[in-house]
Amino acid sequence: MIKLSDRINAMEESATIAMSRKSRELIAEGKDIIALSLGEPDFNTPDFIKEAASKAMEDNFTFYTPVPGFLDLRQAIAKKFKRDNDLDYSPDEIVVSTGAKQSIANVVLSLVGAGDEVVIPAPYWVSYLEIVKMSEAKPIIVNAGIESDFKVSGATLEAAITDKTKLIIFSTPCNPTGSVYSKEELADIAKVLERHPNVVIIADEIYEHINFTSKHESLAQFPEIKNQVVTVNGVSKAWAMTGWRLGYIGASKQIAAACTKMQGQFTSGTSSITQKAAIAALEADPAVLKDMIKAFEGRRKLVLNALGQIKGVNANVPEGAFYVFPDVSYFYGKSYNGRTIKDCSDLALYLLDEALVALVTGEAFGDPNCIRISYATSEEILTKAMSRIREALEKLS
Ligand code: PMP
Ligand code: GLU
Repeated sequence: MIKLSDRINAMEESATIAMSRKSRELIAEGKDIIALSLGEPDFNTPDFIKEAASKAMEDNFTFYTPVPGFLDLRQAIAKKFKRDNDLDYSPDEIVVSTGAKQSIANVVLSLVGAGDEVVIPAPYWVSYLEIVKMSEAKPIIVNAGIESDFKVSGATLEAAITDKTKLIIFSTPCNPTGSVYSKEELADIAKVLERHPNVVIIADEIYEHINFTSKHESLAQFPEIKNQVVTVNGVSKAWAMTGWRLGYIGASKQIAAACTKMQGQFTSGTSSITQKAAIAALEADPAVLKDMIKAFEGRRKLVLNALGQIKGVNANVPEGAFYVFPDVSYFYGKSYNGRTIKDCSDLALYLLDEALVALVTGEAFGDPNCIRISYATSEEILTKAMSRIREALEKLS
């Protein structure tokens, strides 16, 4: 048996991907599993985007691309940043990657290494922690509980900053909590960054459009700290393009050049066809997403109503993304059929076996009191799933 590297041995498999793999396997075995584990819209990619991809193939956009992405795509992204976020990024401050996941890995690996500290507010998206571990920097977790709507204040962040801190990573709207930072809350964080000009912050805004508040606010809007912010976004969520693999950053020229260098050694530019399709998505008026957002809002209501009827479940009201992250710690120590629930991972497995519903343990997102429900599926399926969850939880005593 070949000995694998310490790096890969120390890495956890992505819990979101592991749970969806497991549910796919169980479905293939004939089990009636409802998978609410993967954060993936159930809508199809809009036709006008597919048409742009077909045209790209017909026009022979099938060769290697410039590493940071076609210039016309980066121009379209610059326009999108201006139109939706009032942010000025020039094409040489934009790097397109094979998904926002790679965008984040590029930034982390370009900025930090052994001896550095990276502050990550929890709950966090699963991959932040593992990417930071891979970089050999030290993750510093700052907890934000359900009582603060899972959001951190500037003061909490500042208390975690030391002279070794080089990077902070957070998302708004947040995966897994759905929490959305207001302009005032972002201004509070911006003030802290102003006092620490050598600290960079990744603002992961991939759920920008799936937002039930009046308006998405970007951290980079504060001019004093704009150069310290790396704004991450992509087409996976809003445009239902998860399989196409395209994410991007807006950052200072220095960071953009570093990410381009990194990507040039790992993957080169992302798919030429995807890039041309993404131009169509980015140039479209986001108003066309209205129906999808309405559908998500209806699903959120359904899930929250159902959770409200289960004794012991405590959920906040998520203002964005398509997740609910309820506190389920009431059930720890309770049993059914000789099986005792020790923690949230146990509860996720219990619900998989007993309710045939796949969810993701909060442990993977840095909050062991909670469990993540992705409601990116039809109301019919959600109704069935929520009644199965309720039945299984009510058996525990
Ligand atoms: N950031 C967050 C918060 C996410 O939930 C995801 C999940 N897809 C990503 C980044 C990565 O997105 P992608 O690689 O599909 O663009
Ligand atoms: N980001 C989604 C999720 O959190 C997709 C899976 C992944 O890339 O981790 O479920």
